[in-house]
Amino acid sequence: MALDNLTAVLYGVNDIRLEQTPIKQPAPNEVLLKVGWVGICGSDVHYLTHGRIGEFIVKDPMIIGHESSGTVFKLGQNVTKFKVGDRVAIEPGVPCRCCNHCKSGKYNLCPDIVFCATPPNHGTLRRYYPHPADFCYK
Ligand SMILES: [Zn+2]
Ligand SMILES: [Zn+2]
Repeated sequence: MALDNLTAVLYGVNDIRLEQTPIKQPAPNEVLLKVGWVGICGSDVHYLTHGRIGEFIVKDPMIIGHESSGTVFKLGQNVTKFKVGDRVAIEPGVPCRCCNHCKSGKYNLCPDIVFCATPPNHGTLRRYYPHPADFCYK
């Protein structure tokens, strides 16, 4: 039986749709989470009502949500720090881990950070969501 992966997809200003999307498999060093909670952030609302935040513009349908926690559902290759069933919170901005900012510990300044639900990156407001294990916290 296929698992339910109801997902909140923003198509444009005041056009948000709940639809099924494919469940992604965890890549190496990722965990697939069964999402438990997603807070609705001001930025989610801003994308809904304005379709953009500054130079970040919703041009293609985007899954919203980034303030999230859940339960580890499946482990990607090489993941040893979690087991299935662990409850985690996610840190939604994932940096490159290679640049000088990342190497000096100021990874929040990484110019190549991938932030959930900031175009063109999808967010977490769905039943199942894969995230890098090193940006999940038990
Ligand atoms: Zn937020
Ligand atoms: Zn970096």
